[in-house]
Amino acid sequence: MITFKQAGFLFLLIWTQVCAASAEWYRGNTHTHTVLCGHADSTPEAVTKWYHDHGYNFLILSEHNKFIDPKDVEMPDNRRSDFILIPGEEITAKVGVHTTAMNIRHLISWEDGEEAKESVIQIHVDRTHHAGGHPILNHPHGGSHLNSKDILPASGLQMMEVYNANTKRNNLFKRRALDYPLTAEGLWDELLTKGMTVYGVGSDDAHTFKSIGPNESNAGLGWVMVRADRLASDDITQAMQRGDFYASSGVYLKVCDKDAGAYRVEVDEERTQQQLAALPDWSGIRVEGEVEGYRIDFIGPQGAILKTIRGSEGTFQLKEAPKGYVRARVAFTRKDRVRGMEAHYAWGQPIFTDGRTEKESRGIR
Ligand SMILES: [Zn+2]
Ligand SMILES: [Zn+2]
Repeated sequence: MITFKQAGFLFLLIWTQVCAASAEWYRGNTHTHTVLCGHADSTPEAVTKWYHDHGYNFLILSEHNKFIDPKDVEMPDNRRSDFILIPGEEITAKVGVHTTAMNIRHLISWEDGEEAKESVIQIHVDRTHHAGGHPILNHPHGGSHLNSKDILPASGLQMMEVYNANTKRNNLFKRRALDYPLTAEGLWDELLTKGMTVYGVGSDDAHTFKSIGPNESNAGLGWVMVRADRLASDDITQAMQRGDFYASSGVYLKVCDKDAGAYRVEVDEERTQQQLAALPDWSGIRVEGEVEGYRIDFIGPQGAILKTIRGSEGTFQLKEAPKGYVRARVAFTRKDRVRGMEAHYAWGQPIFTDGRTEKESRGIR
């Protein structure tokens, strides 16, 4: 005989599992441009149609200091029911700080009169929250020239781009300028190591839809996969704010989860290979000294690689983790006919092992 309290607990357990089971992965891009900024080549409608027709589930038309209300954008004639526009803006400050204000209700002013990047970041974060949204710090490394001292003091910032596919940006292994001591991913590790709870976003920052090539900022090269109960602006935004997503430049995951005291990752090989077949040769990040195939790295404080697995699934026992965090990075390396070897990635979010609040330490579930 179970008591009323036990029955209630069982109901809650079953309800939780049913709810968790109903969550789905949704593909989206949080950062793209249109003719309205003056240096991109397609209208909001054409850009929307591109993402719709390429199987995305959500898109933010994140224009520089302009709010494109989704209500004003005509959707494609054959619009799928599983595609939405999420309102947003790329707040663009004179000092080079750019922030996607995700899921806001109205235009946010970019005027700040501030010179200190640290202050400008906080203004962007506060104004985004005030407008009902959540901020993503864009290309902090390439373009904005930020370092950890600028970002660490920010209160209320939980997302930053770790991969921005725009050709002008410094990404994972690209080190074009000597005055940037770290790659974008290295900057992420530095912030995580110093105690910040911040999740990594991948985006296109696309400007060019009419011509395709390695020197164009094309679409479809960097995105996020978000696990949410429902495809709606609030659900997607809240899931990202909780860290229920991973970033990708080509690799899809079936599992990216904290499970029974371990961080577990499993690649969706079929979907990954379909995606990679559709991506051009130059779309990956050039790597040297790598072999073809999948590689999973579990990474900890200071960017230290804690464990490497050659294969498409892997587990890291959290009891073996150092204090701080563990994150997973999955690479698929292939021969690039033009340049040698190139890799595409999935970046899982950190799972925290140092008592950062329970809410923050859940990682991707
Ligand atoms: Zn920008
Ligand atoms: Zn941009």
